[in-house]
Amino acid sequence: MIKLKNVSKFYYSKGVIATGFTKVNLEFKIGEFVAITGESGSGKSTLLNVISGLDSYEEGEMYIDGKETSHYLEKDWEIYRRKNIGNIYQNFNLVNSYTVYQNIDLVLSLNGIPKDERKKKINELLKRVDMYKYRKTKVSKLSGGQKQRIAIARALAKDVPVIIADEPTGSLDKRSAANIIKLLKEISEDKLVIIVTHNYEQVSEYVTRAITMHDGKVLEDKKFKQVEEESIRCESSYKNITLFNKIRLGFRNTFNVVPKFILLFLVYAFIVAALMGEYSFFKKNEYEMDKSGYNEIFKDTDDKRVVLNKKDKTEFSLEEFDNIKKMKNVKSVIKNDVIVDQDMAFTNEDEMLWMMMRASDMEQFDGKVDLGRLPSNPNEVVIAGDKDNYYLSSDAESILDHKFYMMGDNGEKFKDKEIVIVGIKYMDLKLDYIDFKIYLSDELLDKVLFDTHQKYSTITIDFMGENHTSGNESNSFKLETNNWVTPGTAIIPEDFNSRCDKDVCINKNFNVKVENQYYSVNRDFKIEKNYNQKNINKILELNNYIKEDFEENYNGKIYINPLDYNELFNKGTYQMSVYVDDIENLDGVVAELDKMGYRVLKVKDTLVDVGSTEIMKILKLIVTCALIFVLFFISYFIIKIILKSRNTYFSVLRMLGASKNVCRELLIIELLVISNLSYFIFIGLAEINKTSLLNIEFINTVNTYFKLNDYIVLYVVLTLMSLLISIKYAAKLFKNSVMSVYREEV
Ligand code: ADP
Ligand code: MG
Repeated sequence: MIKLKNVSKFYYSKGVIATGFTKVNLEFKIGEFVAITGESGSGKSTLLNVISGLDSYEEGEMYIDGKETSHYLEKDWEIYRRKNIGNIYQNFNLVNSYTVYQNIDLVLSLNGIPKDERKKKINELLKRVDMYKYRKTKVSKLSGGQKQRIAIARALAKDVPVIIADEPTGSLDKRSAANIIKLLKEISEDKLVIIVTHNYEQVSEYVTRAITMHDGKVLEDKKFKQVEEESIRCESSYKNITLFNKIRLGFRNTFNVVPKFILLFLVYAFIVAALMGEYSFFKKNEYEMDKSGYNEIFKDTDDKRVVLNKKDKTEFSLEEFDNIKKMKNVKSVIKNDVIVDQDMAFTNEDEMLWMMMRASDMEQFDGKVDLGRLPSNPNEVVIAGDKDNYYLSSDAESILDHKFYMMGDNGEKFKDKEIVIVGIKYMDLKLDYIDFKIYLSDELLDKVLFDTHQKYSTITIDFMGENHTSGNESNSFKLETNNWVTPGTAIIPEDFNSRCDKDVCINKNFNVKVENQYYSVNRDFKIEKNYNQKNINKILELNNYIKEDFEENYNGKIYINPLDYNELFNKGTYQMSVYVDDIENLDGVVAELDKMGYRVLKVKDTLVDVGSTEIMKILKLIVTCALIFVLFFISYFIIKIILKSRNTYFSVLRMLGASKNVCRELLIIELLVISNLSYFIFIGLAEINKTSLLNIEFINTVNTYFKLNDYIVLYVVLTLMSLLISIKYAAKLFKNSVMSVYREEV
């Protein structure tokens, strides 16, 4: 079956050539029980390794079943080993971290044997070598004799025709040794057994042939029994290891050496944390650069904000408002968006405390208050701000349930805009110079809006063909309200008559136009009456309107009814602000609103950049990539050191006939299991961090700036890194023949 013709083996190391054995001519047949003896260094082990296909030979020819093998590639030797050879070593070469059962299961799994069959066979074999009761014991806990029994069981598990044992009893006591030899004889009936021994007496009663080696040569070859040549009976139909079993083994390898697992896990945890940290830092930076900038019109520069008008400049109906609010990805809609761009000043009754606040409407307030209660009537408000703020925490009593007044531009307090702060909410406002946010009821907001409209509108009075515009110093036209004026009409000063035909203005019409950034209205008023200094009190019931007052204030006031006045200034919603739930959805929502026919403006786009340039962004990206690169090499270096402890394991696998590919895949699975574990533990931590159980600042950053696709990108990076590391490592580890790798280890 195996034939060596003038085969020589040399070792080349450090420029020196050593001889393993020279010009060996031998032929082995199935059914033989061969003992090889000889002094140490005579080439016995080298010969066995060549016969086993574990090592290469340099000269001569080796035939397997009559076929020459010089053209064999690594792959062919792997198949040869797997199908034909069962090795037993002096130092056992078992996987110490596996149990007895798992050791034998390993070789059967590598050969694609189904589970039931494996189980049956392992139990059978363990009974045969009398080790059944130890099947769940870790190999590292067994004695030498017991280990060798397992090694024999493992060699037999594959049902191969050739058993090669290199000093199997070398490290055993006499009794165990005798038992092992007996066992070997028992199982060798229809196999070729080649055994190297120092102690010929031990085997003498069993052998069919004895070979003595000396100085790399065969000195003597005695055959006690002639054996008929038989071709290999079991060119067995072994299959390859199944994917499921690879994964199973990969998982087992991940966890079964605990210190190695912990070390690798720590390295991966570090990689994940560093990648997440760096990447989120980058995202945060980019996000803030994108967001930064200032704006003359919009105080609230939230990048998720979109400003909405109607193309025909008309008012939004309630239905439109509701429809927009119901849109997908819209988080909130502020009806009177004028307020979000206003900072309002408030003062308390004795005017000792002034507070600047950014306004918002009560509808935007979600959740509970931290102090006080929610408003229950229109002039009650909730304010929000930092927990560390003096007025919101230590001195909260000085503002809670106290009256405050809205203040005008020139510092006067508006007695009619009285509020009571009833609730305080703690939140991180992230506003540049404003410490408080105030949530106002719709009623209060209408008042504010009314004021704003009056303050910022241009009023043009077209009186008998002459335009008088507000804000003009010499303008003597002013609108005033008075309840005694009939709606739709106006009462004008007598003096104005001179502007009319024949000095009579009564029953004539004039026009008032109000224009501002949101709307413009036009209204005609019919002149009903004139007034002068004498009759003004009578007509308008201005009780205490004394003469001096009249002269001082008299500058052409036109009195109209408050209802008419309201119609000019107390208008509905001409502009709304829509806030999207996520910046990623901004463009989608804008496109949708655009399709609905609105005029849409992203507040983000109106910002004036403050020095962030594309070049800066690219530089940052390069730095991030460089860091990832460095990280990769550091981790590769550390993982390589940790994996060194796995080399023996992989050598054993290859001695058992596992191909390089299978070994590499097992290594890949091992690292992938750990990288996935670290990744998902981090995700778990990130989730817990959202609750109150855990609060790690850097994970908060990750939570804020990471979107699903960032998680996917990182997962891919991490997986690629693991793949690269295992492939790179495997390429190095499996580059050389099994024995040369193995020799480095032992
Ligand atoms: P044995 O098993 O009979 O004691 P070996 O087969 O181990 O002998 O060794 C045979 C010869 O080959 C010895 O001279 C030894 O020095 C040499 N040899 C074995 N392994 C190596 C090696 N890895 N590098 C160099 N020389 C080696
Ligand atoms: Mg030896």
